[in-house]
Amino acid sequence: MRPELLNPLFVEATRLRGVGPKVAAALDRLLGTPSRPARVLDLVLHLPVSVVDRSTRAKIRDAPRDQVVTLEGRVREHLAPSSVKAPFKAVIEDETGDCTLVFFRNNASWVEKALPIGSTRFVSGRLEIWDGRLQMVHPDRVVDAEGFAAMPLIEPVYPLTEGLFPRVLGKAVETALERLPTLPEWQDPGRFVLRGWPSFDGALRSVHHPKRASDVAPDMPARQRLAYDELLASQLALALVRNRAVVDDGVPHAGDGSMVARIQAALPFALTGGQGKALAEIRADMASPRRMLRLLQGDVGSGKTVVALLAAASMVEAGCQAALMAPTEILARQHHARIAPLAEAAGLCLAVLTGRDRASERAATLAGLADGTIDLVVGTHALFSEGVSFKDLGLVIVDEQHRFGVAQRLTLAEKGRAAELLVMTATPIPRTLVLTIFGDMDVSVLDEKPAGRLPVDTLAKPIDQMDEVVAAVGRAVAGGARVYWVCPLVTESEHADLVAAEDRFRALQEVFGDRVGLIHGQMKGAERDAAMEAFAAGRAQVLVATTVIEVGVDVPEANIMVIEHAERFGLAQLHQLRGRVGRGEAKSVCLLLYKGPLGEAAKARIEILRSTEDGFRIADEDLRLRGEGELIGTKQSGLPDFKLALLDVHAKLLEEARQEAAALVADDPQLRGPRGPALRTLLYLFERDAAARLLAGG
Ligand code: ADP
Ligand code: MG
Repeated sequence: MRPELLNPLFVEATRLRGVGPKVAAALDRLLGTPSRPARVLDLVLHLPVSVVDRSTRAKIRDAPRDQVVTLEGRVREHLAPSSVKAPFKAVIEDETGDCTLVFFRNNASWVEKALPIGSTRFVSGRLEIWDGRLQMVHPDRVVDAEGFAAMPLIEPVYPLTEGLFPRVLGKAVETALERLPTLPEWQDPGRFVLRGWPSFDGALRSVHHPKRASDVAPDMPARQRLAYDELLASQLALALVRNRAVVDDGVPHAGDGSMVARIQAALPFALTGGQGKALAEIRADMASPRRMLRLLQGDVGSGKTVVALLAAASMVEAGCQAALMAPTEILARQHHARIAPLAEAAGLCLAVLTGRDRASERAATLAGLADGTIDLVVGTHALFSEGVSFKDLGLVIVDEQHRFGVAQRLTLAEKGRAAELLVMTATPIPRTLVLTIFGDMDVSVLDEKPAGRLPVDTLAKPIDQMDEVVAAVGRAVAGGARVYWVCPLVTESEHADLVAAEDRFRALQEVFGDRVGLIHGQMKGAERDAAMEAFAAGRAQVLVATTVIEVGVDVPEANIMVIEHAERFGLAQLHQLRGRVGRGEAKSVCLLLYKGPLGEAAKARIEILRSTEDGFRIADEDLRLRGEGELIGTKQSGLPDFKLALLDVHAKLLEEARQEAAALVADDPQLRGPRGPALRTLLYLFERDAAARLLAGG
């Protein structure tokens, strides 16, 4: 249970004084998620990115232009607008000169009240010259002497959303801060004192109330501390999950290499150096008494599947079963189809289990898993649903693991408690980030592509050249090419994606007749298989798809990838999509159709994609380009989105947090020690509830 102390932070923002329905709706857009509204917590953790400095004061004549200044003057006159659309003006003066204040909105009465003629006022805003005269359009502040005394000269600037004014958000943050309780100190006293870090609430207050511009800089002690808090919470959560999963007195699983050798003999190719090395690492892990927890990271097309199969064979040699879990039905079926002939050749008994097998098949598979006659089962997460039991499951392999949520990962860790665990990912995650997602995991990297691959030609074309593109695709199809045609991500809704794909499908059908297939996420499993099968077999040569094909699909004969509205996809996603081609002998082309004019970011994404096929480079560039705060990109790539930590600036802290979390859990796995209660509070504060609940009494 979440400590009561934190409850005030988890209250909806609408409950705050001054937050009406309109403001609340804007706050939800800015800080909420589809499943929950903005809360007090989200407001206090919404940090300013810069400041407005109002401390520059000068006489009117000497005041610097084109920057924010604060002027003091006597209101000389009001100039009523000359027409309905013209602005209302007021003129202030001091002994050196005068300045016109311009108000465009039709609010003369407000101006008359705020700036009575003859009064002395302080105004703050951007000073400029217009038509040879000094003017300030819509001063941000208009106050009297008393108001000026209370006005902070350094003001925080927050990321905003449409319909939310800076002052309104600032006030909401201010009110939220009033509810911030004093929390127990969870940081190690040594670290804390050494760095001159403030307390958690002190740090938040100082960042929200900057005294100078540098106070909001990410490398200041207060910001470092907050970043570290968040990183420690995430690393501690991972360490707790891992601790739960690792069984130190696990079972050694050493195979004799016979089945692995038979499969290798049946493969039409030799393993790459990277595949061989990864396999050796996996076999060494499995042979040791410590339970394996290994990440196999390899760019799209690097050949992870065969490594998975050989790892499974090695486990079968050792007398146990293996399970390979894929994120989608299509992928599970594809793995099964690819592995079947090799399994057959090696004498390995293979089965497939998904959510939609026929009842009789399912019963037979369940029986085979329970009595141990099935050596290797390939499936979706149905593999770990209730009613599935294994005789002796020794190895669990999770493909494209970023597609699975944290909750599924936890169930998996629970279900396969004694099993060795290999997770595979094609998301080219920069090395530093592997830690944030997987915590303390061993990593094998497939860093070379299988030999003989030709580079993919990547071209970008404006979408209004569609007719030419269709004609070119037509020529390629006549020559036997196989083409993926990916339809744009219209909105967040799957339905809208679908409409776009169906429209394109019909349009292409008119040109190519029944050589066009369609595949999307809403199709029934059997239909989807049929569509995929027809494409793999070459009966369909053009496959119109939504992004369901992004992950893992492998049809080596496909050599053209068309991506409509490429500007709407993230870099990582484009790279994944392009990875579907360039797998066979024929030269491949990836055609990015974009709708201009391209924004800076989209232009850069397309440029990077054209310049390299190296997933790691792309990932690094992606991180650099996105900078902070483009949450959609983060979500797409499966990275956790941090609110306070900036992964590029705070990378060192991340490594430190990982080490501290590992040490904490090693010393005190249940967090019962003196820092325990405070650390639990930290976990709940950063919403790592699932991990906190792993603790006894958590
Ligand atoms: P991914 O790592 O993206 O999952 P796959 O396992 O689907 O990649 O492999 C991509 C393609 O490369 C498959 O067609 C596979 O048969 C082939 N492949 C894998 N390893 C090799 C190799 N060592 N030499 C040649 N082709 C290989
Ligand atoms: Mg794969």
